[in-house]
Parts: sequence; structure tokens; C-alpha cells
Amino acid sequence: MTIDNYNFANKKAIVRVDFNVPLDENGNVTDDTRIRGALPTLKKILADGGSLILMSHMGKPKGKVNPKFSLSQIKDDVAKALGTEVKFVDDCMKADDAAKNLKPGEVLLLENLRFYPEEEGKPVGIDKADPAYDAAKKEMKERQKDFAKHLASYADVYVNDAFGTAHRKHASTAVIADYFDADNKMLGYLMEKEVNAVKKILDNIQRPFTAIMGGSKVSTKIGIIENLMDKVDNLILCGGMTYTFAKAQGGKVGLSIVEDDKLDLALDIIKKAKEKGVNLVLATDCVAADAFSNDANTQICSVMDIPEGWEGLDAGPESRKKFADAIKDAKTILWNGPAGVFEFENFTAGSSAIADAIVEATEKGAFSLIGGGDSVACINKFGQADKVSYVSTGGGALLEAIEGKVLPGIAAIEGK
Ligand code: AMP
Repeated sequence: MTIDNYNFANKKAIVRVDFNVPLDENGNVTDDTRIRGALPTLKKILADGGSLILMSHMGKPKGKVNPKFSLSQIKDDVAKALGTEVKFVDDCMKADDAAKNLKPGEVLLLENLRFYPEEEGKPVGIDKADPAYDAAKKEMKERQKDFAKHLASYADVYVNDAFGTAHRKHASTAVIADYFDADNKMLGYLMEKEVNAVKKILDNIQRPFTAIMGGSKVSTKIGIIENLMDKVDNLILCGGMTYTFAKAQGGKVGLSIVEDDKLDLALDIIKKAKEKGVNLVLATDCVAADAFSNDANTQICSVMDIPEGWEGLDAGPESRKKFADAIKDAKTILWNGPAGVFEFENFTAGSSAIADAIVEATEKGAFSLIGGGDSVACINKFGQADKVSYVSTGGGALLEAIEGKVLPGIAAIEGK
């Protein structure tokens, strides 16, 4: 079933959204991209005369109630975005009455699904090495089914529009689909858009193809880096990863973030890029700071020679130029992860240079896809989100889709 072909009149729709939005220390939403992203689906359901039961996770409460991650904090933002009142139930397993009484046009938001360990389906408080782990896991999987079934009982139809968690086989993203027949489950508009954007990157790639991978660590990006190596012409690796590469090549990186157990891996990536004829672009200089702070003293230095006690927090001017040169003339662009600690105003220059070059390339006809919470926050911060081709709400999900993996959230609906 597709959302366009479904008439939601008098139907209760349970929609898995990704409202895992960043909050400041006072619980205010700092970037509402993900809420806005779900609006087309939610508005279509309400316009048809259906009612909405919205479910999401927020943060990593690890199966325990934690007010810091309560979705009550975003209730008013959702109401404002939808232009209608939103009811709230503070326990996602105790919404039977609220769901039963829901009338067409009404909206109910459930409390954070991850306050229950059943959502993720991982046993709590037991180590993987424990001989009892397998039995505990089996038991949790059974509880996960009951949890999903209970959520399903609230509604007539299930819509999954949470691309950000589509790579997880959780109760609300995949297991719940078993309790709806094929005519009453579907992907939402956002999910459809995301899938199409990935297709655009993977099918019929326009060259040159430049991928920019940043962020803090090599370890979390290695799968996609190796995979991209077979697809791209230019691969820019920036951000915190820079210093693992520099150290691997004999550099002195001071206090910069380094994964000492990934030095061989870094050398291997350099070797593989050479073998595959990929133009690997690494930072050569950086903005080094004498503290991890926006107000730290700074100096520009080579990534191979950072003074003791200093750490590289952003790409230097020479590196920014190298990055821009590899982006400006590209026809396909993928950006995931910032080039520096962009949360500090004084260390945004590297990410900003990347964003500027992507905008320039897009103006010249390139297809540019930005994904991952932090790069999306960057492009929004720079006010350039509408100057790139597509801003994805997915981080891990986007990268796994680009690796060519079938996402469980999509497979559960499409029966693959
Ligand atoms: P990730 O979650 O791996 O995509 O990493 C995003 C984070 O990487 C952001 O919070 C950045 O502040 C951080 N980051 C980027 N460059 C550096 C750097 N040079 N040193 C430390 N952290 C960095």
C-alpha cells in the first residue's frame, strides 16, 4: 500500500515518526528539521479525516524512564507545526483509553518508546559474555512482540515515516508491521523521499562524485568509507578523523582526538584509495586550540606537527581550499559529518567552506545530499539548507542505505 492510495477517513493511524530532535539544556528544540520532515504525512492523514497516534524515541534512555528524554518537551512544537492541539500520554503502554476516544482530526503523542527496553529488544543488565545472555535475549524478543502488538492495538493502520531509525529492527520500526495486513501498512512521504534521494545517489551516478565524511571518529564511519571507495572519485575525510590519519603517518598530533587502535586502518584506507584510483583528500593544516573551548587560544599549524598541549579543532585554510577544490566541480555530492567542532562558533570555518562549495556545485547543477544530525545542523546553522538538493533526516540509516543494505524498517513493510 502507498500513502497516496490510502483513504484515512475515520481511521486511527499509528505513525512512527522520528522526533529525536536536539534539545538545549532547558528542553527547547534547537533544530526542528525532523518535526517538519514528518508534516506532509501527518497533514495528509488529518486532511483525509483520520486521527493520529504519534510514536517516537528520543535519545538513549536505555529502557528506563528519564525526564531528560521526555517527549512532553516537544509536544507544543508538534502542535505548533501541525496547527492543532496535541494530546499526550505519559506512558506509551497506557494509551488504550486515549486511543479509543480519539476522534477524526485529533492527535495523540505517546511518551518516549525507549522508556521500555522492549522497544529496542535488547536485554538489560546482562553482559553479552554472560552464559544466560542468549536466554535473556530470547525472552526479551518475546516481550518485544507483546509490546509491538499492544502498540498496534491502538490503531487501524500503521505508517512508518521514521527514516532516522529505519536501520533498526525495533518494536515500533519493524516488529509492529507484523500486526497489520499488507493493505494497512505503508511508508510515509518522508520515507519515500529519503529512499528516492538514496536511489538518485546510487543509480546512474553523475561524475565526478565527491563524498565528504567528517565527524569525530573513523571507527563509526569505516563501513561507509570502505563502501564509498568503490563509488566515488574524490573522498574527503575530515573532522576528528584527521588526527588518526596524521598520527598513522608519523605526525605529532598533541591532544587532538585520536583512535590509537585505528592507525593501521587509516594506513589501509590510504593504500586502498591509491589502488582504486580514488582521490583521497585529507587535511594538511588545522586550527589548533589550547583548550576544548570556543574561547581557547588558537594557531594554524600542520596536522603533522601540533604543539604539545594543543589540539586540532577545525580544518586550516589550506585544507579548506583543498576540500572546496574537490567539491566545486563535482556532479554528485554526499556530505556526512562536520569538519570541525562546529558547535563552537570559532571552529566552524572548515564546515562552512564545505557547505559553501556544495552550494556552489549545486548551483552549477550537481545533486547534493547532506545527511547525519551534525551536518544537517551545520547546513541549517549556515542558513544554506534550501541551497542544496536534499537534506536527509537520517544519519546511520542514510549511510546504511547508501552502503546498499536493505533497511529493516522498509523491509518490514514491503515484505522483503
Ligand atoms: P559524529 O557523531 O561522529 O558524526 O561526530 C560529530 C562530532 O564530531 C561533532 O560533535 C563535532 O564537534 C565533532 N568533531 C569534529 N571535528 C572534531 C575535532 N577536530 N575534534 C573533536 N571533535 C570533533
